[in-house]
Amino acid sequence: MSTASIAALAADLAVGRTSAVQLAEQSLQRADAQRALNSFIRLDADAALAAARTVDADRAAGREMHPLAGIPFAHKDIFCTKGITTTCGSRMLQHFVPPYDALVVERLARAGAVSIGKTNMDEFAMGSSNENSAYGAAINPWGSARVPGGSSGGSAAAVAAGIVPFATGTDTGGSIRQPAAFCGITGLKPTYGRVSRYGMIAYASSLDCAGVLARSATDCATVFDQITGFDPRDSTSVDRPADRTADALGQPLAGLRIGVAREYFGGGVHDDVAARTHAALRELEMQGAQLVDITLPSAHHAIAAYYVIAPAEASSNLARYDGVRYGHRSMDARSLDELYSRSRAEGFGSEVQRRILVGTYALSAGYYDAYYLRAQKVRRLIANDFLGAFGSVDLIAGPTAPTTAFRLGEKSGDALAMYAADVNTVAVNLAGLPAISVPAGFAADGLPVGLQLIAPAFAEARLLNAAHQLQRVTDWHLQEPAA
Ligand code: GLN
Repeated sequence: MSTASIAALAADLAVGRTSAVQLAEQSLQRADAQRALNSFIRLDADAALAAARTVDADRAAGREMHPLAGIPFAHKDIFCTKGITTTCGSRMLQHFVPPYDALVVERLARAGAVSIGKTNMDEFAMGSSNENSAYGAAINPWGSARVPGGSSGGSAAAVAAGIVPFATGTDTGGSIRQPAAFCGITGLKPTYGRVSRYGMIAYASSLDCAGVLARSATDCATVFDQITGFDPRDSTSVDRPADRTADALGQPLAGLRIGVAREYFGGGVHDDVAARTHAALRELEMQGAQLVDITLPSAHHAIAAYYVIAPAEASSNLARYDGVRYGHRSMDARSLDELYSRSRAEGFGSEVQRRILVGTYALSAGYYDAYYLRAQKVRRLIANDFLGAFGSVDLIAGPTAPTTAFRLGEKSGDALAMYAADVNTVAVNLAGLPAISVPAGFAADGLPVGLQLIAPAFAEARLLNAAHQLQRVTDWHLQEPAA
């Protein structure tokens, strides 16, 4: 039951074997039973049940229903929800009640999907372990001493634990893919601009991307098809008709060329993770895909470029939290300057403060050319690497993360070690490409491994199809952690 797909739940709903209210109640009960995971910042039972009742009434009235109608899910707490507190994992926004819904929220509500609450995350989506949340770390359902990954750790944990069949997430440098890999589920990061950022709290605007975490590629496709599409309220939203990816699943893989990027198996990647990744690739090969060794020469510079560009943009985006208009306001400031500095010192956690400092430094007049401008040039080289590679292959593959889920506290005292966890994910964001993390089995420590597939811009359908074909012949994505 807890691993049921969206399609299976929709079929049950259609024939009256269950109701939206029953599904919402079950999800809420499971969330309650698994409170120890700390995967939610808040649960909204009343709102969920009210939404579910509406869906049930619509169905009873004979209205045409969307495949997501009555399906319970959860939103990462980075998406603005009208009238419902949206914290972004920060003390700064502890009491922020948005006056409007994010586009992703609007679209899923319109389909009749039932949100049961808001999931835990690293503060302002900055982190790779969820330990930077002002509301405590979320826990990986595969091991209570393990991180679920970040920043969408609560979403990944909630799906992996079977609380909800899918959850929304955002990915600026890996925040959908890495937690999906650590928790043994599927995570889709769409092409930059494919899903509107309207109402999604900004971290690094040229990299931020909304997407979905679910058990399977099929479920990711159903949700993606509902949230993608042009939105004039996001100036970077792409005005280009989106094909329904759900219809594209089931294409044979014969002739598909998959570039296996040498750099993605480099230093830091555990042997076991590499072995599982190769084994998953062999499954694709057995279906007719052709594996081709490729090289992405600038990949080694991705972390350095990302950790200049992302903080630079963050330092600008987070300037709005001044304690004046909304967000946390210090109560003991005696001057305007003090109001700013105290509100920000009290409202932001240490990693967010570090990013603001790094970003401000990289953008300052004396250092702009040496850091920010140079990082932008490296970003171009990285994008060109992908363009070059996609001249001869259809997809690019490697392990999503260099290791399985690490221990709570293992890297939280060492920022550089934490950043290194993103070694295989950040380049995709720098280039604006779509990518997916698909379960690829389990390492010797019993923890899940994720295979990352990367596609050219707008080729989400190709990506989802390859992932789906893998999931047709393997059952790694259906494994459940021992409760
Ligand atoms: N771990 C990366 C960071 O801390 C990516 C986070 C994300 O994708 N939001 O910036």
